[in-house]
Amino acid sequence: MWKVDDSISLYGVREWGGGYFTINDKGNLQVMPYKSSERSVDVMDIIRSLESTEESFPVLLRFPQIIDDRLREIYGAFCGSIAEFSYPGRYQPVFPMKVNQRKEVIEYILQFGSRTNIGLEVGTKAELLAALTLELPSDALLICNGYKDEEYLRLAISFSEMYKIIIVVDLFEEVFDVLRCAEELGVRPALGIRVKLFSKGSGRWAESGGESSKFGLSTSETLEMMRILADHGMLDRLKMLHYHIGSQITDIRRVKDAMNEAARIYAKIKRLADIEYYNVGGGLSVDYDGSRTAEPSSANYSLREYSNDVVYTLQRICEEEGVPCPTIVSESGRAIAAYHSFLVFKVIGKKNSKDAFLAYPTEGDPAQIEELYFAFKNINLKNYKEYYHDALHFRDELMASFNLGNVSLEDRAKGESLFGMVCQRAVNLARQANDTSSEFAELRKVVGQKYIGNFSLFQSVPDMWGVGQIFPIMPLHRHREVPGEAGTIADITCDSDGEIKLFGGRDGPRDCLEMHKLCRDEDYYLGIFLLGAYQDTLGDFHNLLGCVTEIHLAVDAKGWSVCNRIDGDTCEKLLRFFNYDTEDYIRKTMNRHDPSTLLNQLFSEMHKALRGYTYYQRQNEVSKPESTEGSGLASVATQT
Ligand SMILES: *Cc1c(COP(=O)(O)O)cnc(C)c1O
Repeated sequence: MWKVDDSISLYGVREWGGGYFTINDKGNLQVMPYKSSERSVDVMDIIRSLESTEESFPVLLRFPQIIDDRLREIYGAFCGSIAEFSYPGRYQPVFPMKVNQRKEVIEYILQFGSRTNIGLEVGTKAELLAALTLELPSDALLICNGYKDEEYLRLAISFSEMYKIIIVVDLFEEVFDVLRCAEELGVRPALGIRVKLFSKGSGRWAESGGESSKFGLSTSETLEMMRILADHGMLDRLKMLHYHIGSQITDIRRVKDAMNEAARIYAKIKRLADIEYYNVGGGLSVDYDGSRTAEPSSANYSLREYSNDVVYTLQRICEEEGVPCPTIVSESGRAIAAYHSFLVFKVIGKKNSKDAFLAYPTEGDPAQIEELYFAFKNINLKNYKEYYHDALHFRDELMASFNLGNVSLEDRAKGESLFGMVCQRAVNLARQANDTSSEFAELRKVVGQKYIGNFSLFQSVPDMWGVGQIFPIMPLHRHREVPGEAGTIADITCDSDGEIKLFGGRDGPRDCLEMHKLCRDEDYYLGIFLLGAYQDTLGDFHNLLGCVTEIHLAVDAKGWSVCNRIDGDTCEKLLRFFNYDTEDYIRKTMNRHDPSTLLNQLFSEMHKALRGYTYYQRQNEVSKPESTEGSGLASVATQT
């Protein structure tokens, strides 16, 4: 029998879930915002409740408490390392706004992080303005990075007495503008310097670091900048040394290399200027595919290993060089935000549908069925050829037996579907093994399925499209059943790139996902996980599919509750965003038609569609049409 544990292992929930997700006895996804089963929620309870209030899918579920837990973990890791090595300094976290600028998310971060004095890092004028509208903890840092024009600089400098703003010079020429604006405004702002390291990150964003990096000052520029600051009597305002070698650093050796180099630079500069903060930037990795490797969607180290390396290296070098230890600042964004949200969507159909019925062996089945089931459960990367050939053999035996009149039609059907399921798996394994033999290439075409998911890859998972990043994805329920089919998942955009074709796995990326047979009378829900970093604001409006509805949830020992709901975009909102005037359009449409017969119907249909969600809605999901009586129609009609 297929067990929940089989599903947990098949979908790698333990490996990528960070302790926040599991599958419960009912076979449903269970979310544990504090990694404990005492405070947890069955996601199907949430979905059933949303269904009962006629909520339209897709929806994005956010669990602010997961942010709380992430903040505690990261802060705890640094404090743990500081205690372990008796580091004579503090740690202070900063959240980089570019990772998720949604106001609600930043507010959760500031709320939960206030006890750790969490600050913000901004990279543009607009991000700075956004940060200034929020209430930062009293000792929090507000770090200004990025290319800064006069408006940006004047804004930052003007507020630098109200907030603990540090203006980081990212580009050498900026130092002249900073000094001029500071003088004009009569303020002596705190400054930082971003140094360009020789060491690079690893993984996809390695080029953010290293000699060719777009940001940071070279060694000679650093020395020159300090000379200029000294000339202007501003060297005492240089308070922070900063580096950032790229996001998603998958290999711990890169972290160590960068730490070694930057800590030396700090020690040398510290003799000349009163640097207080040592800012290691971001880059703390998230293991999206659960493989625990240095592959681009993974990480080969733990959080505590990371904090240990930072603290230990810095302390060792400060001691060697005989300089005081600074306050450590980190700007981990991905590692704070990634886990807290996931997208829930329905599968609305299947292309190339080939029937595969669920089949378990039962008492009295022919031996071949037992054998086929055994092959299905145990086939793996090492034995897939052999087990596939075994399955062929048992299928043929079963058929021969059927032809002699010894097997019932039901058993034949069961055997056929089990055989299909073995083929499906064999095909996946052959792909993983880079097996290009014609045998498996043919088989792949026979078994491949394409499911249609009601979502937009471009809006909700842009990094999957843009940089080929893997995100965990799995069914949210029915995990007590064998996922007897497999396939890829196409979204509802009319773009062939809008398809999930790459899935995580312990043995490397896979080209399809195991799925359950769709039932006619029950919706099938999938989730895409770890979407809280970068995906929320990087997404676009391809095909005019808009932002999805957000449901924010809190979980306590007694149960769960919705703590916030943010409407998804309506068609009208998207049209407005791209400068279509829907009122005008309605008027023109009405002018073109005889305004007696069609008018009411036209207006009501258009009105309904404009007010509606941009995603696919089944008839039973479409909210009841709003009454048009006494509304827009009368007034618009009289104007025409
Ligand atoms: C993007 C960025 C970060 C965040 O990096 P993560 O990998 O998300 O932790 C931190 N600091 C700076 C300067 C950045 O540009």
